[in-house]
Amino acid sequence: MIALARKYRPRNFASVAVQSHVSNTLKGAIARGRVAHGYLLCGPRGVGKTTLARVLAMALNCANRSPDGEPCGVCESCQRIWSGSASLDVIEIDAASNRGVDDARELRERAMYAPSGDDRYKVYIVDEAHMLTREAWNALLKVLEEPPPRVVFVFATTEPQKIAQAAAPVLSRLQRFDFRRIGPADVRARLESVLADEHIPAEPEALAMIARAADGSMRDALSLTDQSLSLGDGPLTAERVRDALGLVAEDEYLEALAIIADRRAGDVFPMMQRLGESGIDFGLFLTGLADMLRAQLAVTLGSTSVEVSERARAILVERRDRLTAADLLRMLAAIGELEPRFRKSGQQQLLLETLMVRFALLDRSVTIEDVLRGLGDGGSGPTARSTAASPSSTSGRPAAMGTGPGPVDTPRRSAGDSAPPDRPAPPLVRDQATRSRGDASWMPPPSGSAPTASAANPAVATAPAPPRPRSVATTAVPSINVITERWDDIVASLRSSRMLLAPFLEQATPSAISAAGALTVQADDEAAADALEMSKADMLAVVKSMFPAVERVTITRPNGPTASGSPKRVTEQEIREQRITSLRKRDPVLGAAIDALDLELLD
Ligand SMILES: [Zn+2]
Repeated sequence: MIALARKYRPRNFASVAVQSHVSNTLKGAIARGRVAHGYLLCGPRGVGKTTLARVLAMALNCANRSPDGEPCGVCESCQRIWSGSASLDVIEIDAASNRGVDDARELRERAMYAPSGDDRYKVYIVDEAHMLTREAWNALLKVLEEPPPRVVFVFATTEPQKIAQAAAPVLSRLQRFDFRRIGPADVRARLESVLADEHIPAEPEALAMIARAADGSMRDALSLTDQSLSLGDGPLTAERVRDALGLVAEDEYLEALAIIADRRAGDVFPMMQRLGESGIDFGLFLTGLADMLRAQLAVTLGSTSVEVSERARAILVERRDRLTAADLLRMLAAIGELEPRFRKSGQQQLLLETLMVRFALLDRSVTIEDVLRGLGDGGSGPTARSTAASPSSTSGRPAAMGTGPGPVDTPRRSAGDSAPPDRPAPPLVRDQATRSRGDASWMPPPSGSAPTASAANPAVATAPAPPRPRSVATTAVPSINVITERWDDIVASLRSSRMLLAPFLEQATPSAISAAGALTVQADDEAAADALEMSKADMLAVVKSMFPAVERVTITRPNGPTASGSPKRVTEQEIREQRITSLRKRDPVLGAAIDALDLELLD
């Protein structure tokens, strides 16, 4: 075994590249003969604290030290210190196992002995220094208050705050250095240089995987590289790293993403079965899936800095339009929610399967085209129907995350019982509507094509079904009070077929009815009036099913009735703003996505 971590442990300050802010300071102190008696090195594990302490000890004791403070690294003294073998003058103590006062006393007594030679320094390297007891610190404090000549204490810790609690007076006598966490780019660069020295070619993806797994620790990165290399000869390939680290192939994540984008929910099961049989860690898979979704999100939003292989990036770019940023965000949020429960679960495969199926069946975020299509089709024209999602898509119609039921029955409005034929609402914006993408959306298909319901809105599923039209009914025109009493039912019924109209309907109130059966509905604002104007036919159909004597519906605007023949043409912008506002209310996740990304739900 090559033991790269050991072989490539730095032998001088210049090699401790990432922590140059520390190594340069120490080197300068040595060059100028201004070495302190105590140092505190703080930072995460594996970032070079002990290594730098040893280089400091080497430099203090090297006979061939360069004028700028670097140890030679090869003399006998340097060799002994570098390798951590017994040295009279450098004493390494692991505080985790020597934390009591006795050890500290012994330390103090030994510190009284001078270094082994006139030109030498005695260096105590105390690892895991936060493990020392208060008593031990008190003993050390006495040494540090009157330090013997040429004795240096170096304390290394991952938790300096604990030392601050236990030994604040000691802290004030130490020079403190904070080590940086080592970023993936620095780890990769270091691995590249080490492997070049070893004449071992490596795939960039392999290095990236190791850097990710090492999580800021250079020592871990080198050990993981050793581990991967020990599996065989030849270049360090991504596959070897995957095998050594028990990682899942990138292709599996790409396949998972494809299953979601293609809505192939049925393919989830064989995939999970296969992964389970290959013995993968499902927790790692969930993390990897989140990484891939995040990469797709970054690509979708136009970012070029994505931590995946070139090949995967090309695939993500190709699939950019398959999933919207909002949908990807919803999935990432769902994974975040699941994660704590997932870690503890004994049913990880099941949870993962369920999650993947939900993603595959996820209602896609609505686009402005869907919105306009839903608003403009009027629910009765044949052109409108042809632009809607094909009826066959209802069988695989997705249930939104977290909500239960699938399609529910809503009344089919037959041709005979409804709107006067002379009043089909014209499509609002034909060019938008005909540019239909044909995929599923929040929008239920037009009311003419039952069964419909978007499970994205639980209210839809629970909306009471209106009574079927009765063939024989009272022909008397109802009073406005009676209609007002039933208004909520009318709104509920319309909501199931014209979901996006619901917010406007809730703001509208029946205000009058004529003896001839003309119902006047007062809209709160212009936009609502416009929206309602376009779906008068639907509204009439529902009202008529309850009150057959109602013959027509008139919408009045806030500033009074409009001439019925010339409704003001609503602008796209107005509709869009209204829609986005109501959609935000309806779906908090989408609302958050809009806020986060400043997304406009259009084009
Ligand atoms: Zn030397």
